[in-house]
Amino acid sequence: MVMKVRDIMTRDVVTVREDAPVREVAQLLDERHISGLPVCDADGHMVGVISEFDLIAKPDAHSAGDAMTRDVISVMEDTSVDEVRYLLVQRRIKRVPVLRGQKLVGIVSRADLVHEIAQTWVCEVCGDHERGARAPERCPRCGAPSGYASVPTPPIGVA
Ligand SMILES: [Zn+2]
Repeated sequence: MVMKVRDIMTRDVVTVREDAPVREVAQLLDERHISGLPVCDADGHMVGVISEFDLIAKPDAHSAGDAMTRDVISVMEDTSVDEVRYLLVQRRIKRVPVLRGQKLVGIVSRADLVHEIAQTWVCEVCGDHERGARAPERCPRCGAPSGYASVPTPPIGVA
C-alpha cells in the first residue's frame, strides 16, 4: 500500500493573484497561520509561490508577483508521500504545491505529513494499516488484539 499525495493533500488552498499587494499576502499568512501560499493566474495555473521568507527578503516589492519565487518544486497527485517527505527534508522546503497539468489542485505541507504520522497505525502481527485518531482495539484483518504501533517511517538516506 503506497500512500499517494492525493490521500493527504490539502485541497482547499488559499491562493493569491500576481497583482495582490504584499500587505494583503502578509495579512493572509498572518491570519491563517500559514508560512506561504501559491500565486495563481485567472485560469488557476500556478505561476509561483510567495512565502514569509519572500516578504521579509524583498521589502521593496509591491505585489505578490514582484516578491514571489517563480522556480517552484511541485508534485502530482499520484506522487508517493515518501517522495514528498524526501523533498521536504532534503530541499528544506515547507510545502509542495500539487499540480494537474499546470492547474493547482492542492498543497502538501509539513503539517500534512505530521498529521499522517499521527493518524496511521500498523498491526504488529499482520502489518495491516489503519487510520484514525486512536489505535483500533482489534485488527480488522487478522483479529489480533491491540498490537498497533504508530507507523514507523523509514529513515531517509542521504543521497
Ligand atoms: Zn493484523
